[in-house]
Amino acid sequence: MTGSSLQRLIGVAVAATAATAALMSPAAAATPAATATTAVTAAAAADVDHATWQNDCRAVMAEALPYLKERIAGAAAGEKQAIVFDIDNTTLETDFGFSYPSPANAPVLDVARYAQDHGVALFFVTARPDIIKSVTDYNLKHVGYQVSGLYVRSFVDLFKDVAAYKTAQRKAVEAKGYTIIANIGNSATDLSGGHAEKTYKLPDYDGQLS
Ligand SMILES: [Mg+2]
Repeated sequence: MTGSSLQRLIGVAVAATAATAALMSPAAAATPAATATTAVTAAAAADVDHATWQNDCRAVMAEALPYLKERIAGAAAGEKQAIVFDIDNTTLETDFGFSYPSPANAPVLDVARYAQDHGVALFFVTARPDIIKSVTDYNLKHVGYQVSGLYVRSFVDLFKDVAAYKTAQRKAVEAKGYTIIANIGNSATDLSGGHAEKTYKLPDYDGQLS
């Protein structure tokens, strides 16, 4: 996520919190309903156009889907299967123009839908800070993901190495009894550290996409 996207999302989170507070106050009747929806067109953060990015993502997901179909069909009795996803530029379009809610990254949503329709739990592990947890949770569900768990960074986590933080969250998913059959992200820090049977790397174009 670009810095400006993060700042805008924090603004959305603050506005949503203020709207909730207004609804709970006696003065609510006099307060116009706040809207958390904004749509701002911005230049892409990367030197790649949207169509190229989508084609590149689709190619990676075309490798993931046959594996997942076979792995899901071959689940052991009682096995609880999970997939872990990054959010920015993985499950959601983030750096191709800011909007809230952000659109899904369509090739990834297609794979996620197959998995969730076949009993696989989806967990989302993001470097986003916890101030935007509720708007992120809403965004994921709004575009069609079934969220079994959403891990955001606490204040203390912000000072930790991102890869180590993300690995710790996968361990937490395993501690709930899940087998992580795939970990899907677009940055190396999403995927290092193990604790997944397979990893699938979407493009980040040398770090241009968060
Ligand atoms: Mg990302």
